[in-house]
Amino acid sequence: MKRTVRDIDVTGKRVIVRCDFNVPTDSDGKITDETRIVGALPTIRYLTEQGAKTILMSHMGRPDGEVDMKYTLRPVAESLSAHLGRDVLFAASPAVVDDEVRAAAAGLEQGQVMLLENLRFRKEETKNGADFAKELAGLADIWVNDAFGTAHRAHASTAGIADLLPAVSGFLIEKEVKFLGDAVEHPKRPLVAVLGGAKVGDKIPVIENLLTKVDSLLIGGGMAYTFFKARGYEIGASILDEKNIALAASLEKTAKEKGVALVLPIDVKAAAAFDNDAESAYYDADDIPADRMGLDIGPKSAEMFARIIKSAGTVIWNGPMGVFEMPSFAEGTKAVASALASSGAVTVIGGGDSAAAVEQFGFGDKMTHISTGGGASLEFLEGRTLPGIAVIPDKGE
Ligand code: AMP
Repeated sequence: MKRTVRDIDVTGKRVIVRCDFNVPTDSDGKITDETRIVGALPTIRYLTEQGAKTILMSHMGRPDGEVDMKYTLRPVAESLSAHLGRDVLFAASPAVVDDEVRAAAAGLEQGQVMLLENLRFRKEETKNGADFAKELAGLADIWVNDAFGTAHRAHASTAGIADLLPAVSGFLIEKEVKFLGDAVEHPKRPLVAVLGGAKVGDKIPVIENLLTKVDSLLIGGGMAYTFFKARGYEIGASILDEKNIALAASLEKTAKEKGVALVLPIDVKAAAAFDNDAESAYYDADDIPADRMGLDIGPKSAEMFARIIKSAGTVIWNGPMGVFEMPSFAEGTKAVASALASSGAVTVIGGGDSAAAVEQFGFGDKMTHISTGGGASLEFLEGRTLPGIAVIPDKGE
């Protein structure tokens, strides 16, 4: 268990918190989804209630080390002020840290909150530059990491700074580590993983790690076609990860040896073109016509997956079952989301597309945990140590 803000005395201290305020904005710079801001509130509220002097920092978008006001964090400061019901000071310096910002940080009163400008206006941030980490650390007495979305990156604000200040996690990282960690390491069994998405290649380390943990592994989405090919099925014009066909065959073999049920779709919805309005029909998985491409799992597969999900103790889901962005090929993903929502299992959704799908279909509040980090949750499922979490000492250390 990592040390958290509860394990350190923050009263009267200047506490710098790495948050994930990488929120989407429209062409007028208006925030279109405040989920990440809302996710950061419990830690910020705790710090203000404890009488800390809170300094928040985050990146937004990819300004690549250049000052680009399209990515200013000013709208985030405004949103935070509204949510917290108190004025959040915005340190508008494009240099992120300068004398004015240092003076503002030094002048903070207990309970006050200030937000720095976009960390990625400085190119040293993503390079984990020691000088920039020092500038950030110089503003505060304690560092809190609460940005799970960037915990898989070793940047100045997510890792380098931990060498210079006492380091603890915020409540969001605590929650992510607890739910993702327990799901993989101490699950209520049977443990079922559902994997989808476009390519096998991107998910190999996840499959390899999960094969050592799960009771069943359900594979849908574009990934399934490489497994079909490995079995010798005709997959028509479906997406194929050519260089990983042999690997798919060996993963099936490993699953068998480990007694893991690796379950592939038994039917698919295949279309004449990659187009929502293309002519399409259902086919058995081993009977896809040469001129068709599979773009979703079929209803028999959806029912089979739902049955397995319903008898699970824990379900981990990452990746859509089909091209869910197109309504004609969203049914399989919706069926899996619905099965998770109505199961009594602990349900943990990896970030990214599956999180978006769950919200899109209105099942968000039915899941035990929806991860806020796409890349980070995937690396967690790969069994990798995330640098932004590794730098936080364990409780009692
Ligand atoms: P990933 O980023 O690997 O999780 O892949 C997500 C993407 O996979 C989504 O944009 C889906 O549209 C896409 N996808 C899912 N199933 C298929 C399929 N059968 N053929 C092509 N793309 C797919």
